Amino acid sequence: LFSAFHRQQRRRKRRQRRNTNKMKIEEVQSTTKKQRIATHTHIKGLGLEATGKAIPLAAGFVGQAAAREAGGLVVDMIRQKKMAGRALLLAGPPGTGKTALALGISQELGTKVPFCPMVGSEVYSSEVKKTEVLMENFRRAIGLRIKENKEVYEGEVTELSPEETESVTGGYGKAISHVIIGLKTVKGTKQLKLDPTIYDALIKEKVAVGDVIYVEANSGAVKRVGRSDAFATEFDLEAEEYVPLPKGEVHKKKEIVQDVTLHDLDAANARPQGGQDILSLMGQMMKPRKTEITDKLRQEINKVVNRYIDEGVAELVPGVLFIDEVHMLDMECFSYLNRALESSLSPIVIFATNRGICNVRGTDMTSPHGIPVDLLDRLVIIRTETYGPAEMIQILAIRAQVEELSIDEESLAYLGEIGQEASLRHAVQLLTPGSVVAKMNGRESVCKADLEEVSSLYLNAKSSAKLLQEQQDRYIS
Ligand code: ATP
Repeated sequence: LFSAFHRQQRRRKRRQRRNTNKMKIEEVQSTTKKQRIATHTHIKGLGLEATGKAIPLAAGFVGQAAAREAGGLVVDMIRQKKMAGRALLLAGPPGTGKTALALGISQELGTKVPFCPMVGSEVYSSEVKKTEVLMENFRRAIGLRIKENKEVYEGEVTELSPEETESVTGGYGKAISHVIIGLKTVKGTKQLKLDPTIYDALIKEKVAVGDVIYVEANSGAVKRVGRSDAFATEFDLEAEEYVPLPKGEVHKKKEIVQDVTLHDLDAANARPQGGQDILSLMGQMMKPRKTEITDKLRQEINKVVNRYIDEGVAELVPGVLFIDEVHMLDMECFSYLNRALESSLSPIVIFATNRGICNVRGTDMTSPHGIPVDLLDRLVIIRTETYGPAEMIQILAIRAQVEELSIDEESLAYLGEIGQEASLRHAVQLLTPGSVVAKMNGRESVCKADLEEVSSLYLNAKSSAKLLQEQQDRYIS
């Protein structure tokens, strides 16, 4: 028994060591930038007919017909793998639905396709290198769909006689007999040889003879056990320590599909920065824990991902990386992008800008949209046009509906006017404060007076700029 104990300890240590080299997938949490796309939740696609023609109002999209049709063609090109090494540029005035269009394209590619929006200026952080920021966002836009076929057994724990134990384990059995349990399943009693960690968990859970438990097996190997088939307790076992179960007693089979991005995997496998000394622990309490994703870690993740793809367990789902205000990027970023677009692990990159001819940032070289010519050469360009009042009112009505606000026609028309004068985004932003004011005035529905009150309180960008110009002498310049 004594030597069995040592053997067990050694195995545990070995497993712990090995586990540090393994990729964590089961506890991966999505790190999608949800708040950024919250205002575009009504966009469900491009709203095109099968012929590729834009339906005036469909999939949450209003107007912008030519741009949506052009977007549809790009979707076809992506499906036919003709966009490799190329990218899309959306050029048009602010508030003409460029983000909405990029999201629509990604939705057309599939609902589980990752969409990662970023703004060019995000690369200028004092803590992280510019290319590092770009790389992180590239990996946020590449999805991995992991499929696993799991067998789940349901059964009652039974007591095994010493002979039964012996028959499962052979001569070796006695010493480690504590890892054998019996499970009475629909098709009779089966004996399971469990890993000690699983067995410990059963003891902790106070599992006793007669209790119903669930055992999950992956390709015939015991993976998890629990009191419900939701398996609150999870175990990470080394493949070679799995014990194949006899076939033919599968209670249920479920295919578990998990969608993650490469960045999710990086983040879940990165170790928190700093040591375990008291000072760094205090530092971690003051600041949220920072994780360090190194190139080495990324390479390791790529290796495991490639293995999964080769084994047919996972497939790559290239998503959409949307870089707004592309003119904010500089030469270092552009040369990184040129290289990254060539990679086989590249998402679809969609740039957006509202600039015409201007300097490439940090240089005195002028170029259309502030983008160097060699990158421009790779781009397919779509123009977006400003909206008329009727289209703006339709968009505002959709947003009111999505935000579950009740608003009358007169107020929508008034907001439409505000949208024309200021911007669509400003008009959309007034919806929520408008509904708060309506509630304060004891009404469920927003009326024009509420919006007038709100717009007298908040300046839009244009009137703020006008005011600044008029009162220039009162400000520090
Ligand atoms: P841009 O990126 O060009 O500045 P955007 O897509 O960010 O534009 P906003 O100006 O923020 O759009 O538009 C405000 C709101 O109107 C957003 O909720 C956006 O989804 C929505 N929107 C814009 N264009 C359309 C459209 N053609 N159909 C439906 N909704 C739209």
